[in-house]
Amino acid sequence: MVQTVGVVGAGTMGVGIGYVFAASGCEVTVVDRDPQQISQAQVVIAEQTQKAAHRGKLDNTTAAALSARISWGADIDELPTHLDLAVEAVPERVELKASVLTAVEGRDPAVLASNTSGISIGQLAAGLRTPESFLGLHFFNPVWSMPLVEIVRGHQTGQMALQVAEGAVAQIGKHKIIVTDAPGFATSRLGVAIGLEAMRMLEEEVAGAEDIDKAMELGYRHPMGPLRLTDLVGLDVRLDIATNLARAYGPRFDPPRILIDKVAAGELGRKTGRGFYIW
Ligand code: NAD
Repeated sequence: MVQTVGVVGAGTMGVGIGYVFAASGCEVTVVDRDPQQISQAQVVIAEQTQKAAHRGKLDNTTAAALSARISWGADIDELPTHLDLAVEAVPERVELKASVLTAVEGRDPAVLASNTSGISIGQLAAGLRTPESFLGLHFFNPVWSMPLVEIVRGHQTGQMALQVAEGAVAQIGKHKIIVTDAPGFATSRLGVAIGLEAMRMLEEEVAGAEDIDKAMELGYRHPMGPLRLTDLVGLDVRLDIATNLARAYGPRFDPPRILIDKVAAGELGRKTGRGFYIW
C-alpha cells in the first residue's frame, strides 16, 4: 500500500491524481511552478470533495480530512524525500518531462511514474539513474470518475515498481491494464487515431461536429464522441500527443490543420470556453 504520494503538475490531471490518492488515505504533496494553477487546483479539490460527499461517494470523515491531506508547493525541491510514489503530470513534451523526472528522482521516491499519454517510457527513462523504479501510470480524465489506469512497463522497469503500481491502482479503486512500452500505448494510439480522423472529416465537411460525435455515440456506443472528448482533454494536449505519435508512426498521426489552427487561436476546448464546441 502506498502512503505518501507526490504529484508534479497541478493541471487537469495532477489535480485529479492528487485527489484520488488523498481520498484513499494517502498524504499527498502536489507541486506546480505556476501559483495560479495551485489556487485553481485547491478550488477544484474543494468542489470535487463536496460533490462526492453529497453523492455519497465519500463518507463525511474522509471528505472532512481530504484537503488537509494535500500539501502544496512551488518547486520539486519541496517534495518530501523517500515518497512511496511520485507521479509526473507536466505537459506532453519530451525535454520538459525528462528534466522534471530527473529532478524528482533526486528526491529518491521508491517508485517514479509518468502520466504521459504516449511518450515511450524507454525514451523518458534514458536520463534516469534508476530506470528499474520508473514506469508509466496513465490516468484518464476526469481522474475521479474514470475507472482505468494504464500501467506501462518499460523494458527496464523492475518487478518491485510494477507491484507497487498495481497495488496503488487497486488502492484507489481502479482497474488496470498492463501494456508493453510502445508510443501511444494501447489507449492513446487508438483514441487519438479516431479523434484525428474525426477532425479530418470535419475539415472535409463530411458532417458537423455534433453529427460526427453522434455517429460514434449512437452508432458505436461510445459514451462521448471524439470531438467533444478532445474538447475535454484539451486541444493543446491532443496536438502534443499527435505530434509525438507522428514522429513515431509517420503521417497517419499528422495533426490536421484545424487542430493546429485552433490551438494557435487559443481555442483549447472546455478550459478556454471554446474548441470544437462553445462551452
Ligand atoms: P495541463 O497543462 O493541464 O497541466 C500541466 C501542469 O504542469 C500545469 O499546471 C503547469 O504549470 C505544470 N508544470 C509545467 N512545468 C512544470 C514544472 N517544471 N514543474 C512543475 N509544474 C510544471 O496538462 P494535463 O492535461 O494535466 O496533462 C499533463 C500530462 O497528462 C500530459 O503528459 C498529458 O499528455 C497527460 N494526460 C492528459 C490527459 C487529459 O485529458 N488532459 C489525459 C491523460 C493523460
